[in-house]
Formats: sequence, C-alpha cells, structure tokens
Amino acid sequence: MPIKLSTYLKNTYGEKIYRLSLSSGCSCPNRDGSLIMADGKPSYGGCTFCSEGGSGEFAQMIKEPEEIAGQLEKAKARIAEKTDARRFIAYFQSYTNTYGDPDRLYALYKEVIERDDIEILSIGTRPDCISEDILDMLKKLNAIKPVWVELGLQTIHERTAKHINRGYELSVFQDTYRRLKEAGITVIVHVILGLPGETKEDMLETVRFLAELSPALDGIKLQNLNILKGTVMAREYEDYLKNPEDAEFPFHIMSMEEYTDLIAECLALLPKETVVHRMTGDGPRALLIEPLWVTDKKRVLNMLTAKCALAFLEQK
Ligand code: SF4
Repeated sequence: MPIKLSTYLKNTYGEKIYRLSLSSGCSCPNRDGSLIMADGKPSYGGCTFCSEGGSGEFAQMIKEPEEIAGQLEKAKARIAEKTDARRFIAYFQSYTNTYGDPDRLYALYKEVIERDDIEILSIGTRPDCISEDILDMLKKLNAIKPVWVELGLQTIHERTAKHINRGYELSVFQDTYRRLKEAGITVIVHVILGLPGETKEDMLETVRFLAELSPALDGIKLQNLNILKGTVMAREYEDYLKNPEDAEFPFHIMSMEEYTDLIAECLALLPKETVVHRMTGDGPRALLIEPLWVTDKKRVLNMLTAKCALAFLEQK
C-alpha cells in the first residue's frame, strides 16, 4: 500500500512541509522547436494538453538566477497569509527545469537548496532533458539536501504518447529512470488519467508498469486530464464534440464517481514504498473546460475517503 505525501513528510520531518511554486526561467524543447520529432520536423506545439504556462500556472518567470530570492520571498508571503509554515519544498514545476545551461541552473538551484528554510528541491522535467552534465549537477545538489526529479510520463502507451505530442518514447523514460535512480535521486512520475483514446485498462497498465519498476518508484502524481482553454487539446475536444462517431482518439470525460473509483484501483496496485503526491489535477480554474468537478477538491477528497482510498494512505 502506498503512503500519501503529507504523511510521508510528517513522518520524515516531524511537521508539515509546504510547497513553494517557483520558476527557473527555463523553456521547453517541445515548445521552442529544438526537439526534432520522428518526422524530422521541429516541435513548437508542446504536449497537446499543455497550456501557455507550461503546466504550472502559479509561479512567476525569472530571467536571472539572482531573481530567485525575491520570488521565494513572495511565494512564502502568500503561504504565510494562511499558515504558520516554516519549512518548504522548493518546487520548480512549469516547463522543463533541466533544459538549460547546467552552470546557470546549478547556480540557481544551489542558492535555493542552501537556504535554511528549504528542505527539498523538487524539479519538474522531461526524461529526454537529463544529460550527463545535468545528472552531475543533480548529484551535487542531492549531496546538499534531497533532490526530487519529477518526470512527466503521462502514459506508457506509444500510440497515446504520439497523439499527445509528448515527443519521446517509453525507452527514453526507462533509461533516464535507471540513470537517476543509480545516481541516488528521488524520482516522481506524473500520470494523466483519461487521455483521449485510452481505456480504463490502458490507464491501469500504466500504473501497473510504474508499480513494477525496479528499483521501486519513489513517488507518483496521478491526475485526471484537464482540458484547458487555448490548448491543442481544447480544439481537438471541440472537433470531437461536433463529430464523436469518427474520432480515432475519442474523449471520455470521467465523472467524479468514476474517477475516484479508478484512483482507488490505481492505489491498490502501488507498492508501499511509493509516495502518492497527488490524486487530482489542479489546473487553473479560469482555463478549465472539463471536467468541472475538479474545482470542488473537498468533495473529491471526501469521495476518495469514502472509498477507503485515503484510509490506508494514512497508515504509518
Ligand atoms: S507538458 Fe511539459 S514537456 Fe509537455 S510541452 Fe508542456 S512544458 Fe513541455
């Protein structure tokens, strides 16, 4: 049985640790054209579900490493309005936070990780953006304090991966996972449930694959597909609604009931070593087209609790 993140953090640090959403100023190779796709063309579109903010709408962008201190203080001030938080995870979520000059990134992340109020450095990225230089950088940082690398896999199915323009194959993920684990880095994998054309069995296969990884997966983020305004997927969804019969990749917007049932099944597959970092999506409300029930997080969590999914996650 897996454990939920808040329990893991409390057991490890003895108190609640809060997340600060920060921005490294990196772009994404799947959006700026530097990634060359299988057809030989550069990719500018990004993953089809990804919004302008690069899947992380909450942090401010920075251009120079020196700006990070100001960004951190602002993020802390926002949290301080609601809590008495003292210790934090520095979370670089949006875009691809290992896509850039390793020296610049090292300077930026070192400044962050060496602060007394930061316990963990968490870096969201793509598996095809972990060069040997970047791996060395992560190892050096990990020697200071724990470094978490969050990989956006979303699905193990190549057909879906191609359709959502992910831009790398499963073998790339497998290789990067092995290298990161050999380097002693904590790896968290993002999965999207409800991608167009995927059946429930397809989704469970992705989770089963991750549950069987060796060495065991450190953490997982499960989230429902959020269709966001302005994305390629939003246009595809609009087209789908006009002509659902002909769709090669049909959309199925899960109800809250259906989604929470699925989460309970996914959790039951995961080993006890794995920490569950997320079970729902938290996309920006203003951009959300479907599913609208995700905005009612409390109800979703209550439903999960009712289905016993959270009861076992509370175990120590
Ligand atoms: S989801 Fe991540 S990898 Fe995909 S386009 Fe957006 S920032 Fe790039």
